[in-house]
Amino acid sequence: MRLLLVEDDAMIGEAVLHMLRAEHYAADWVRDGTMADEALRTEQYDLVLLDLGLPKRDGLEVLRALRARRNSVPVLVATARDAIGDRIVGLDAGADDYVVKPYDIDELLARIRALLRRSAGRGEPVFEHKGVSLNPATREATVQGTPVSLSAREWAVLEPLLARPGMVLSRGQLEEKLFSWKDDISSNAVEVYIHGVRKKLGPDVIQTVRGLGYLVPKQ
Ligand code: CA
Repeated sequence: MRLLLVEDDAMIGEAVLHMLRAEHYAADWVRDGTMADEALRTEQYDLVLLDLGLPKRDGLEVLRALRARRNSVPVLVATARDAIGDRIVGLDAGADDYVVKPYDIDELLARIRALLRRSAGRGEPVFEHKGVSLNPATREATVQGTPVSLSAREWAVLEPLLARPGMVLSRGQLEEKLFSWKDDISSNAVEVYIHGVRKKLGPDVIQTVRGLGYLVPKQ
């Protein structure tokens, strides 16, 4: 899952970025509204954590422009604890949920998981399909009930495929879930991690669709 963090406060930004990466999200960080706007026009994200008070372009403006382009990426706005008005305006401008600052990290992560879940069209908190189960909250993977240890990047390629069995994701789409701007991507990285998943979970968990990409078969 790839996240965009929009935060102008250097200390908060560093801390949240560190925490998101520790949770195995691929995360990019921008510090003003203009850069946020540019990132959202050029990259595909699974979720945006958007501070509202930003230099250059206000967070609300960025959000309104995003929705005006009919981009439906889930947006979590960050507001001050006492700023109820901001929350209402943010939600009405197209935000999906809000978090209050200073952040409670556990709450922030839970809200991120809930939004990612809803945007994938799921209500249940654990991905389960054909004996494979992934729990994003605990980072536990099991096959037929037996725990399996997946690396962060193996998890990152498996999760979006397992979230929607039968849907093909291209190598490029999987790369976007795996890496943020600063990472060096080797051309066969996705293949390497998929190979790792197959080795641990079984060869048929992820199928290659020649010329198109990969899928977790429905049946
Ligand atoms: Ca701010």
